[in-house]
Amino acid sequence: MKKDKFVLRATLRFLAAARRANEGIASRRASDAEAVRALNFQRNSGRVAEAPSERGSAAAAEGGKNRPWSERNKFVLLVIFSALWAGASFAGQTPDAWQTLKGEHFVVYYRPDVPDDFAQTTMDSAENALQRITDNMGIIDDLEWAAEKRIKIYVYSDHDDFVTNGHQALWSHGAALVRLAKIVTYPEAGGFFDAILPHELGHIVFRHDIGLSAAVPLWFEEGVAIYQEKAKRLGSDKLVREAIKNGQFIPLSRLTGMRLYRNSNSQIVDLFYTESASAVHYLITQWGSLEFTMLLNELKSGTPFDKALHKVYLRFETIDDLNQAWVDYLQVQS
Ligand SMILES: [Zn+2]
Repeated sequence: MKKDKFVLRATLRFLAAARRANEGIASRRASDAEAVRALNFQRNSGRVAEAPSERGSAAAAEGGKNRPWSERNKFVLLVIFSALWAGASFAGQTPDAWQTLKGEHFVVYYRPDVPDDFAQTTMDSAENALQRITDNMGIIDDLEWAAEKRIKIYVYSDHDDFVTNGHQALWSHGAALVRLAKIVTYPEAGGFFDAILPHELGHIVFRHDIGLSAAVPLWFEEGVAIYQEKAKRLGSDKLVREAIKNGQFIPLSRLTGMRLYRNSNSQIVDLFYTESASAVHYLITQWGSLEFTMLLNELKSGTPFDKALHKVYLRFETIDDLNQAWVDYLQVQS
């Protein structure tokens, strides 16, 4: 039984990779960018992390681009599909059973057992969040792009359905697939409307604004997404101050080089996200939203992060200058 489940999961992962390959990822650069932006939300420990499964999918998609699918592969896929349709119902759901709710900027896809009013509240909440996030980033936008793209929000039945049929990591509660303008998540008590939804939408708006190919440190990208979650935005300064006091603080220069993996030390990962939130919060609140918008514009035009930072905030010649100013600010506030 366990083995069957393993085989089915492996098959589903394979199918997800095949689907992405067929959707066609334009270049290695786009694949890498997508991998970085397949970002998952882990609410229990209040942090977000990359989804290794999505990294795998992006890599598989890249392979698919270089080696077009043969007829034989297509046949194998067809057989697997047929087998799935014939016998499989995972976590109480068939993989493609969705109801649809269309709005101005979003389409909510939700499982038959997810109540209609939850889907409607998701839609209303997403519309509000989209406006708020755009304002937060100082983006003057008529949201035409969102109306055209219709950002897709997939609401799975529960965590089991989300992990099994949504191909997500066990510890994950939500993910943003930026290139596809797609959010995947499931209803959960507390945090869904205030944290998961705005966070994932934050990733999509951010990348819509600066473009998929702009290179920014992960801490900055995550900091912008966490900024959209009010509770974490306001709580992070205190935690960073504690980290400074007990010698665990990671300077921005080191944070910039950090990548996170499934087996990364959880305390370090928590600190990574807390510091990211605090640093972005500092930039926006202490240096103004106009400057922040200018920073985003520089990044959009391809200026490397360090140079863009210096161009907009003259006193930050290096990332260390920003680090020092931020730490000084936190210590004065305590
Ligand atoms: Zn994130």
